[in-house]
Amino acid sequence: MKSNNTKKNLELVKVNDAWCKGCRICVEFCPKNVFEMRKGKSVPVRPEDCILCGLCQLRCPDFAIELEERDHEKASAAGE
Ligand code: SF4
Ligand code: SF4
Repeated sequence: MKSNNTKKNLELVKVNDAWCKGCRICVEFCPKNVFEMRKGKSVPVRPEDCILCGLCQLRCPDFAIELEERDHEKASAAGE
């Protein structure tokens, strides 16, 4: 583990392989081109570009996409 930032970014977007049916909706909708199709499944190949707009999660018909909350949200929640 070299950098916390890298690790954090890599975990921003996750696709659950088992649920993804390869419809490509997330590939088409993502404004940052985070996804690419690999062997019929969507893979977040550029998670570091994700702006957490939520479109992919909203549009995925199979609920296969998980988005991490940003740290500051967690921090403010913890500060309550
Ligand atoms: S949250 Fe937005 S920017 Fe991030 S992967 Fe999904 S569609 Fe792309
Ligand atoms: S929108 Fe969902 S089911 Fe469709 S390719 Fe993306 S992750 Fe897979």
